[in-house]
Amino acid sequence: MKPKLLHKIIACPYCKSGLKVKGEIATCVKCKRDFMHLNGVLCLLTDEDKNKYTEFLSSPSGSYMVKEFKIASRLFRTLRYIFGADFVPIKRLKKFTKSFSSREIILDVGGGNQGLGENIINLDIFPFNKVKIIGVGENLPCLDESFDGCICDSVIEHVQSPKAVVGEIYRVLKKNGRAFFVIPFIITYHAYPNDYQRYTKEGLKILFDKFSDVQIGVYRGPSVALVNFFSDYISMFSFTKNTKVYLIIKGIVTLLTFPIKFLDLLLIHNKNTHRVAHCLYAICRK
Ligand SMILES: [Zn+2]
Repeated sequence: MKPKLLHKIIACPYCKSGLKVKGEIATCVKCKRDFMHLNGVLCLLTDEDKNKYTEFLSSPSGSYMVKEFKIASRLFRTLRYIFGADFVPIKRLKKFTKSFSSREIILDVGGGNQGLGENIINLDIFPFNKVKIIGVGENLPCLDESFDGCICDSVIEHVQSPKAVVGEIYRVLKKNGRAFFVIPFIITYHAYPNDYQRYTKEGLKILFDKFSDVQIGVYRGPSVALVNFFSDYISMFSFTKNTKVYLIIKGIVTLLTFPIKFLDLLLIHNKNTHRVAHCLYAICRK
């Protein structure tokens, strides 16, 4: 992603006007506020959000999240995908990103260090590797109608106002632009850095009611949900207060039970799968 292209779509988080970037400083063309870089990444947060997220990220769960994302090399992520609880039977997200030409721009809200393509801009609350903009989903620092596509993968459960995030994604999408959401349903508590809510398919229809065309289906199935739930369930019997010990036991149980997840190859085609799905997807058109 060329910096020039990035500078064309960013906006002031206060007034949503364009920014002029000169060296390390971006200045709002309207309200004249200045924004700095943090670890080489443009930080487009309001002072209120900066304070709020500094507090979240310095909490025990926030520090754990940052550490986990930092060590998550490609090899680590691949091994975790094979031997962990994660399994996606139908690669819908890949199909979604491939449906855009290389000239079309996609915003990955809460993209962290996942690298889905050259034309994809990652926005997150922390300057993880691959993040191009530091910002929050509830107040995207991007110009109106500046993206052809948006991705919001397993982020909705971690935000205080899902409706605001969806509204912001709608705003920054061009007319006819498409968004891909992954939204957990039967998944155990995971604070990254907080965990607020779950959605059923009916709940998602209300959440995405602004969009004209919404397709909802199962992204990760019941067997992934079972492995995830069972490993937490067994870890409970340790009665430990130590999070590290808890997670080690959970990891061992996952390692012993992970092959169950492949049964989702079968269950993904069952029309009742949404009842106990690990997470759902929604493809929406503006
Ligand atoms: Zn401004």
